[in-house]
Amino acid sequence: MTDTTGSTNPLLQDWQTPYQLPPFAQIEPAHFAPAFAVAFDAHLAEIDALAANAAAPDFGNTVAGFDASGALLDRVRLTFENLCASASPPALQAVEREMAPLLAAHDSKVSMHAGFFARLNAVYGQKDTLGLTEEQGRLLDRLHTDFVRTGATLQGDARDRFAAIAERLANLHTQFAQNILADESSYQLPLTGEADLAGLPDFLRSATRSAAQERGVDGYVITLSRSLVEPFLTWSTRRDLRERAWRAWTGRGESAARDNRPLAAQILALRQEQAQLLGYDSFADYALADRMAATPSAVYDLLSQVWEPAKASAERERQALAAQAVEIGEPGDIEPWDWYYLSEKVRAARYALDDAEVKPYFSLDAMLGAMFDCAERLFGVRFVEQTGVPLYHPDVRVWEVRRGDRLAGVFLGDNYARPNKQGGAWMHVYRKQTRNGGDVIPVVVNNNNFARGGNGATLLSFDDVRTLFHEFGHGLHGLLSNVNYTRLSGTFVPQDYVELPSQLLENWATVPEVLAKHARHVTTGEPIPAALIERIRASQTFNQGFSTVAYTSSTLIDMALHLQKDAANIDIARFEADECKRLGVPREVGMRHRLPHFGHIFGSAYYAAGYYVYMWAEVLEAEAFDAFEEAGNAFDPALADKLQRYVYSAGDSRDQRTAFRAFRGRDPQAAPMLRKRGLLAG
Ligand SMILES: [Zn+2]
Repeated sequence: MTDTTGSTNPLLQDWQTPYQLPPFAQIEPAHFAPAFAVAFDAHLAEIDALAANAAAPDFGNTVAGFDASGALLDRVRLTFENLCASASPPALQAVEREMAPLLAAHDSKVSMHAGFFARLNAVYGQKDTLGLTEEQGRLLDRLHTDFVRTGATLQGDARDRFAAIAERLANLHTQFAQNILADESSYQLPLTGEADLAGLPDFLRSATRSAAQERGVDGYVITLSRSLVEPFLTWSTRRDLRERAWRAWTGRGESAARDNRPLAAQILALRQEQAQLLGYDSFADYALADRMAATPSAVYDLLSQVWEPAKASAERERQALAAQAVEIGEPGDIEPWDWYYLSEKVRAARYALDDAEVKPYFSLDAMLGAMFDCAERLFGVRFVEQTGVPLYHPDVRVWEVRRGDRLAGVFLGDNYARPNKQGGAWMHVYRKQTRNGGDVIPVVVNNNNFARGGNGATLLSFDDVRTLFHEFGHGLHGLLSNVNYTRLSGTFVPQDYVELPSQLLENWATVPEVLAKHARHVTTGEPIPAALIERIRASQTFNQGFSTVAYTSSTLIDMALHLQKDAANIDIARFEADECKRLGVPREVGMRHRLPHFGHIFGSAYYAAGYYVYMWAEVLEAEAFDAFEEAGNAFDPALADKLQRYVYSAGDSRDQRTAFRAFRGRDPQAAPMLRKRGLLAG
């Protein structure tokens, strides 16, 4: 029996571990609920004390005081969120379902704490006379906005209803995400015998073998991890098996036992009600009001510059694929499960590139070295691997981040796919950088889902390399954070800005001098030939019609859903079909995420009416990297210095439009992004 009482609960002890990491080996799922109960009470007691202060409210006793509160809760919650995403056996998933409404209820109690809000509001009313620094003013604005947007100004029934909706939504989000996880975990397509493996290169054979071993079955299996499905669709010559894999992959969230469609409809109706309670026409209006874009029409302005050129580009690609199909004796009527397969053939013909030639130059270890080298040259931090640190799974590695002799942060890397780990790639924190209440160094984790190499090195596709750099960009945003207040730390910026540091860092994965140095053949150690680098770079605009249509269709449908003023009776399947028809989404391309498994928008509210943020940030990113290209040096010291100061270290300490202007010297335009995707006319 697990002892969960306060005196022995490891979540509530002082963590005498290296870097004060969570004592993973001692933590069991049953520890979380009692630890949360203690942490909730402690947090509310802190806020009660702030509210009851006899002194007149001022910045220190109210704004900075609130920012410093909840440290115990943060510690428990971040550990919980990370384990739920990275290592979540069924017992922990059950706790996650149990905790979701309790966490939402606690957040509501905080944001509706009338006594504290009255004091915050009073300080806010005097803002201009308090002699605050820019960062202090920003903190006051942010906290006030956070409270208003989570219901602090509501009264009576509206107030109760708002809190009830938040709890119900937390339940539904969790259920939605867990259904996808369960569909992904339960599915496997066994490949029995050589005939089923036809066309698969060695790296994929060993990856499907590892996947089978991980699940305790003989032979080879395809699971619904993107890093197995996409390569399988790319290489398998068995059209029938490609179709089965594709149908399972795009059908996630629709099984009779775990149908996400009614959950999505309920989520939309509740969000709409929430937005109306706060005085907005729709959830999209509410969501956009607190982002850099500010309005739905600003988002549509951007998407409308993209959509028709992207479709035209995808149609040209489709014609090239059809011609290719005929050439190799395949049917010319292309189905969605043919696109990856045929486009790989066209890509190989056009750029003389195939993954089997490219991958041996991109071992995971070499690419980790490449990204750390880039961070050192750009930002002056060194990554030094440590061993013997107890972590939550043997896959996880840890690095000290050093600036000179000083320990500036701790970086965890969890790079392999495995059961009970969420799909995709993400960054999260175990600890946020702050100086409020003492100097705290950040602890950041990057998660990927690479398929482990069967024997020896794990080899990455160039897309995987970009993903690795992408998450490391988020990681640096957390690790380089240099602010005074917790609320303004690292990646806690508006959603349409948070992808700037990550997408920007991907550019360094294509810099020739970086590849020449780090992309070495895994067996011979030979550096990658310059001609191959050129072909990889030239191929970066290949298939961009497909990618842009798949992404933008998901984005447009996300916006359309969240602009609905009557979301109560929405039929998710029909809405998706009707919108695809209205927009003219080519059926061979489809949506990158169909609604029943669109975890970005239904697994939490974070990307709701916000899937556009990747493209918004790409506009900023293309402008930002252009600055280095204009300088003729991807490591230009003066630019790198400004980039660190205004972007990677700034957190939310200043308005993003101002910060971007300070870095780039002008406001962003869409043209560099369109050029980069090969979507400019001509
Ligand atoms: Zn990202």
